[in-house]
Amino acid sequence: MAILVCGGAGFIGSHFVEFLLEQGEAVVVVDNLATGHRASLPEGPFYQLSLADKASLAEIFREHDIEAVVHFAAFSLVGESMDQPLKYFENNVCATNALLQVMIEAGCDKLIFSSTAAVYGEAGEALIRETDPTRPTNAYGESKLMMEKIIDWAARSSDLRYIALRYFNVAGASAGGRIGEDHRPETHLIPLAIKAALNDQPIKLFGDDYPTPDGTCIRDYIHVQDLVAAHYLALNALRDGAASDTFNLGYGRGYSVRQILEAVEAVAKRPLRIVRAPRRAGDPARLVASADKIKQALGWKPRHDDLNDIILSAYRWFEANPKGYPHD
Ligand code: UDP
Repeated sequence: MAILVCGGAGFIGSHFVEFLLEQGEAVVVVDNLATGHRASLPEGPFYQLSLADKASLAEIFREHDIEAVVHFAAFSLVGESMDQPLKYFENNVCATNALLQVMIEAGCDKLIFSSTAAVYGEAGEALIRETDPTRPTNAYGESKLMMEKIIDWAARSSDLRYIALRYFNVAGASAGGRIGEDHRPETHLIPLAIKAALNDQPIKLFGDDYPTPDGTCIRDYIHVQDLVAAHYLALNALRDGAASDTFNLGYGRGYSVRQILEAVEAVAKRPLRIVRAPRRAGDPARLVASADKIKQALGWKPRHDDLNDIILSAYRWFEANPKGYPHD
């Protein structure tokens, strides 16, 4: 029996593949390499294809005994999704629909799904709970909410059970140093700030007039290693017969953009050249998780809940791999 990891060559997917292999699991990876990197994957079954290619996907289910699917494959940039929303609905929503059709036809009944805090939208001061209203402020979040709903409807009408994990802001890198973050173009705050420090380049700060203590956006940054460990707990819960459910994945404490930039300066031991810029479209002021539900239901225990640990692991990756992965 093998676990099919869709989007396994991406930042989070590749970390989960590494984690699964360390647990002795058999893994099959599908990725269209639109944003992922072949070089992030160790040896093993790999198929370069789009999930919308149902015939090829069905062939993989025939060839391998797929016990469960972990679905990371999606475009995930807030800014881009505001400029090109239809690209997001086509790639994220339509492909998920196709994946579900193939899974159900093949009798595969377990799915772990990468969702996002962006499904919540403007959330206010309190920690966000899974039962809070979902009102996305950007097309990326809307596409993920649609995917969650499609999965839920599919599960209601079949044997499929799923766990949707709503990630807050994922950063950091694997301790082994083999893999890390390599988005092209990079748009996320922590990698951009680290690269700015390493290359002595300016970093833009998008908006300092938000209703937060220092005027900059607050996010809940989670280490990728804690995040992938939660996926494995979710997989084992489904194996043990757990019902479908949705969980937040964050630490329950927020840092402002300014605090992140200060923390990067401390790790890099040099000042950043911060350039104030207008707000980025679609950014909510504050997104901080309540992680109580996943801790209670799945026994998730964060082990890297330390901003310095997150930034240092990412810093080491970027320092050792200034050009990211070799070209695929
Ligand atoms: N941000 C910033 N400068 C950058 C990139 C991001 O000020 O060069 C801000 C962004 O506006 C948001 C926060 O950093 O408030 C986190 O953004 P990121 O893209 O890392 O994650 P998101 O919250 O969009 O998933």
